[in-house]
Amino acid sequence: MKPFKAIDYYQIDSLLSEEERLVRDTIRDFVSEQVMPRIEKHHRAGTFPRELIAPLAELGTLGSSLQGYGCAGLGPVAYGLIMQELERGDSGLRSFVSVQGGLVMYPIHAFGSDEQKERWLPPMARGEKIGCFGLTEPDFGSNPGGMLARAERKADRYVLNGTKAWITNGTLADVSVVWAKLDGEVNGFLVEKGTPGFSARDHEGKFSLRASVTSELALQDCAIPLENRLPGARGLKTALACLNQARYGIAWGVIGSAMAVFDEALEYARTRIVFDKPVAAHQLQQRKLVWMATEITKGQLLCLQLGRLKEAGKATPQQVSMAKMNNCHVARECAKLGREILGASGITDEYQVGRHLCNIESVYTYEGTHDVHILIVGQDLTGFGAFS
Ligand SMILES: Cc1cc2nc3c(=O)[nH]c(=O)nc-3n(C[C@H](O)[C@H](O)[C@H](O)COP(=O)(O)OP(=O)(O)OC[C@H]3O[C@@H](n4cnc5c(N)ncnc54)[C@H](O)[C@@H]3O)c2cc1C
Repeated sequence: MKPFKAIDYYQIDSLLSEEERLVRDTIRDFVSEQVMPRIEKHHRAGTFPRELIAPLAELGTLGSSLQGYGCAGLGPVAYGLIMQELERGDSGLRSFVSVQGGLVMYPIHAFGSDEQKERWLPPMARGEKIGCFGLTEPDFGSNPGGMLARAERKADRYVLNGTKAWITNGTLADVSVVWAKLDGEVNGFLVEKGTPGFSARDHEGKFSLRASVTSELALQDCAIPLENRLPGARGLKTALACLNQARYGIAWGVIGSAMAVFDEALEYARTRIVFDKPVAAHQLQQRKLVWMATEITKGQLLCLQLGRLKEAGKATPQQVSMAKMNNCHVARECAKLGREILGASGITDEYQVGRHLCNIESVYTYEGTHDVHILIVGQDLTGFGAFS
């Protein structure tokens, strides 16, 4: 496999700090050396590369934007660059790290008790404990406020009932952050693996994110101690705050996927001869490559400015939605164009583009579908909610 050449058409590198570049390069090398040689095998087998959890933890990627508890405490741009590089390898790997950090460690850090933080965050940063985030239900995805999961207080316990669907890391997880209504209000609960009444099983037959675990969680009269409720997580807005963290990472991550696809398509187009000259020397194909390069560059700049706003505490959830929406669209289109440029070769896993093409369909849908982010930005711009 040829070494990865990252497109940086507008010298965005020069806008990064030395520390940000160092973090980016470290993860880039890790992906080239550890992820690329094994990812197609896992994708084909439909298995998550568990053997990468320890090295990912050693590199400080788990909960990397959080302060204390053994976390790296990186700024938003360095965090985003980690996501970009991981997703250059595979969206499933980036999903694992996003969920662990943005959707499990973040809510424990932001809304948990001191005991919960001490108990869970250090082993999660070390990759010794894995978490998942259970919000979506079989009948409530885009509209999680309609959830049916319920928690009831009974003496010294909460008793949970409900089903969660499409949960990343579900069967891997030692602890699930489960969202359920308690007296009509959405609350977050920590449910440990092995608790009677809790079970998890994987969704089978996925075309997409095959190197990632996606599961259904079932809670049947599942009793947990009172201290397993996240005391600060009250109302749907707290669950949505977690999604905002993770969507920020997705906006960066999918640009990594597009960069991988662009690199592969450009290399292929330069070397494959059709009608006596390279694919890249034909106008029609140049148009595709130029579109990809332009949109990737715009996506990179969007992320960087969003990161700088986040650093200054000024990024709004609607700006995060715009970046997630735009960059997923760009990555999806780039994967389609890249696949086209590779011709028949693009449909085999000898090349990466087909895997990215399939993966991006999940990323386009999860953490708020493309449509939902349009509605969020639309409401912000017009003042009119058009959800229902
Ligand atoms: C691989 C994978 C991993 C995931 N991981 C997690 C996880 O870890 N935790 C978790 O909680 N969830 C997870 N999800 C679930 C994901 O967040 C949901 O799939 C997503 O929110 C969409 O919900 P849905 O699939 O039920 O689609 P639906 O909500 O049923 O939407 C169906 C269609 O209707 C459109 N639509 C919805 N509302 C509107 C509207 N108001 N106006 C116009 N159109 C609308 C949608 O855009 C979509 O095209 C994951 C999903 C996948 C595929």
